[in-house]
Amino acid sequence: MASKKNGPADPQQWARETQLVHGGTLRSQFGETSEAMFLTQGFVYDSPEQAEARFKNEDPGFQYSRFGNPTVAMFEERVRLLEGAEDARATASGMAAVNGAVMSYLKAGDHIVSGRALFGACRYIVETLSQRYGIGCTLVDGRDLDAWKKAVRPNTKMFFFETPSNPTLELVDIAAVSKIAHDAGALVVVDNVFATPLFQRPLQHGADIVVYSATKHIDGQGRCLGGAVLGSKDYVTNHLQEFLRQTGPTMSPFNAWVMLKGLETMPVRVKAQTATAARLADHLAAQKGVTRVFYCGRADHPQAGIAKKQMTGGGQMIAFEVEGGKAAAFKLQNALNLIKLSNNLGDAKSLITHPATTTHYRIGPEARAELGIGDGLLRLSVGLEAFEDLAADLDAGLAAVRR
Ligand SMILES: *Cc1c(COP(=O)(O)O)cnc(C)c1O
Repeated sequence: MASKKNGPADPQQWARETQLVHGGTLRSQFGETSEAMFLTQGFVYDSPEQAEARFKNEDPGFQYSRFGNPTVAMFEERVRLLEGAEDARATASGMAAVNGAVMSYLKAGDHIVSGRALFGACRYIVETLSQRYGIGCTLVDGRDLDAWKKAVRPNTKMFFFETPSNPTLELVDIAAVSKIAHDAGALVVVDNVFATPLFQRPLQHGADIVVYSATKHIDGQGRCLGGAVLGSKDYVTNHLQEFLRQTGPTMSPFNAWVMLKGLETMPVRVKAQTATAARLADHLAAQKGVTRVFYCGRADHPQAGIAKKQMTGGGQMIAFEVEGGKAAAFKLQNALNLIKLSNNLGDAKSLITHPATTTHYRIGPEARAELGIGDGLLRLSVGLEAFEDLAADLDAGLAAVRR
């Protein structure tokens, strides 16, 4: 029986907004309102018997902060409730989450099939790093179900993809691709950053593992790095946990505390950013010199049907193409006053980047062409500023292009 002090009986039954404020809270003997930050490396035992019991996993207390920490545990439980997963582990960054999710499960001789439209470092892990350890990889156009099917080999153990993708917001049909993976006996890992944890729940559509860069919408205010991996108890216990414990990509308690506070306000922030993004996407589409707008919430998104099926909001990311290639894209950026030039995203501050010369510079012109990343493409992460100020800033940028 839950005590009255802890509110409604079962946190799993709470609405998500409620879970994000109260889920996972562990109060110390002082009864603090806000979550406590446990900046400690280790934990003391009452007796050698208790120490022995902890090491045998017969006593649930903490041992060492590389294995677990109360503040980090609060974050893990809150993000687990949010995703509706059986279990969750926090990591030092989004890339530590991706690397842990992939490398804890695979071994030499295995094969990954991955969507090719990926965040650069994710592509490095599945395509380059894995190869050094004898894991094969086939990259496919994530929109093409036949390509996923054809890429399967007898040793395929994992499907990996991002949806929406960075930066052109291509979508992968999570349910359809998960079915192909499961028919082949492979595990499905989804990097869910661009959708935000608010608007897409890959586990409900058939995926097995969800990874986050908590650096983005979970922090939401551009402060700390962090990540999370969510999945079944079996996967976490038998694969992920040992890998993370022994290799140490641990989230710091300070960062976990920042992320916990970030989760409390995430729905409010992301909804406001999304409302502004939807208006800005329409505004941009009506401007001279803008040749294309990519936004998951617009009816002209090439995969609007899939967006409707698996996303409950368009998100705060927009990509758009300006006429005049790199020169025009640079002129626009140089004329901006309010919107900051940064390759980060999900911040309270609106951020713009030119993928061809920054995030996607290293993959080269051919891979960029394959992904539809032209020299005039700009990616905009919409923040919490007023729509009118952002629209005026972009208008000034576009006016500079026309001059
Ligand atoms: C930012 C990002 C990552 C990496 O996260 P870090 O916290 O920077 O390590 C991975 N995937 C996607 C889609 C991202 O946007």
